[in-house]
This record gives sequence, structure tokens and C-alpha cells, in this order.
Amino acid sequence: MSIQSVVARRQSADRDSAFARDVIDGLTARPKRLSPKYFYDETGSRLFEEITALPEYYPTRCELAILGAHAPDMARLLPPKTALIEFGSGSSKKARLMLDAAPSIAAYVPVDISSTWLTAEAARLRRDYPRLAVLPVAADFTRPFQLPPSLAALGLAGFFPGSTIGNFEAHQACAFLQHAARILGQDAILIVGIDLVKDPQDAHRRL
Ligand code: SAH
Repeated sequence: MSIQSVVARRQSADRDSAFARDVIDGLTARPKRLSPKYFYDETGSRLFEEITALPEYYPTRCELAILGAHAPDMARLLPPKTALIEFGSGSSKKARLMLDAAPSIAAYVPVDISSTWLTAEAARLRRDYPRLAVLPVAADFTRPFQLPPSLAALGLAGFFPGSTIGNFEAHQACAFLQHAARILGQDAILIVGIDLVKDPQDAHRRL
């Protein structure tokens, strides 16, 4: 579909949808942009998983190795009864390393926009961790959302791996961190996985 026809559609019934506005504003901006949150329906989530297995896609491999070596150290920083809240949980592969290392985690709250995928992952987690409360939240993590009320008695630890924070512009990353602080509250911990800035030439050589 051409951008002209998308713009023309703005006149039609869906002109007020946030998606229509983001597409029109983003694709008519210079440089063009579109939030990665729109990549992720069930097919997008499956494709992302396939991408993480490619030799060129090092972040997942590196982070799994870091967590494999250091999750027990991170676990020691968590309060005795903790809820781990993952912003953009995907396959929850990295959360599983935290769960394995931290018996103090009593509840896991995967938050993801890809709701069908999220429901299927939650079922697998419940099967594999029968003593854990698995409380999925289908939500856009850049917007206000409610945590399950049953977490009230637990300490909270946010988990934001995958360098997903790198998908934001700097001002959006700041806004997200403020938003996460509001959701998690004052005494919470936040574990964020951030990739370093790469030399573009180096990134090019990897392809
Ligand atoms: N944390 C996982 C997955 C990273 S991929 C890991 O490190 O392996 C990014 C995930 O965030 C995807 O599952 C995608 O569906 C989700 N996501 C992206 N933008 C989102 C948004 N705005 N709100 C909620 N989930 C989002």
C-alpha cells in the first residue's frame, strides 16, 4: 500500500486509531520511523525467535552467556520474596535463567504486546515451574498498565533485557525509565540489558 493511500485512509473510519496515526506520522517524517512494537503479532514474535538464532544476531547469545555466568550474583540482590516483571518478555528464555538462579522469585509477570504468543509462553512456564505464580499481562509497556493486585506483598524487580531499550530514541528511553519507576515503585530493582554503541563499519562487516 502506498503512503498516499494510507494518508487517504486517514479520512476514513480508522483515522483516530493510534496505529493509523503512528504509521502516518512516522512514515511521513524524515527520517522515516515506525515503532518496533508493530513488528510483534504472533508471526512477528516467531520471526524474532528465528532471528535470535542467526550467527549475526549476537545480543541473545551474549546475554544468555552473561546470565548463565552471573544470574546467581544478580539473584543475591533480590529481596526474599520477589515478583520479576519482564517488559517485553518474548520467549522468556532469559527470565528462565533468572528463575533457575533465584528461588526468591515467587511470581513472574511477563508483559508483552504480542498477546497470543504471551498466553502460549505463560502456559509453558506454568508447566515447567509449577510452584511459581505466572501472571501474564498483555499490554503496551510504553503506556500505563496495572500490575496484578496479588503482587502487593512481594518486592518488585523489573527485567528489561535484549537491549530493547536501544529501540527507543534517547528521550523515549528516559520516558520509559520514568514510567517503569512509577509502575515498580520506590524500592524496586530494575535489571536492564544494554548493548554498547557499535562502529557502523564493524556492524557492516558482520553481514
Ligand atoms: N525480553 C526478551 C524479548 C526481546 S524482543 C529477550 O530479551 O529475549 C522484544 C519483545 O518486546 C517482543 O516479545 C515484543 O513483542 C515485545 N514488545 C516490543 N515493544 C513492546 C511494547 N511497546 N509493549 C509491550 N511489548 C513490547
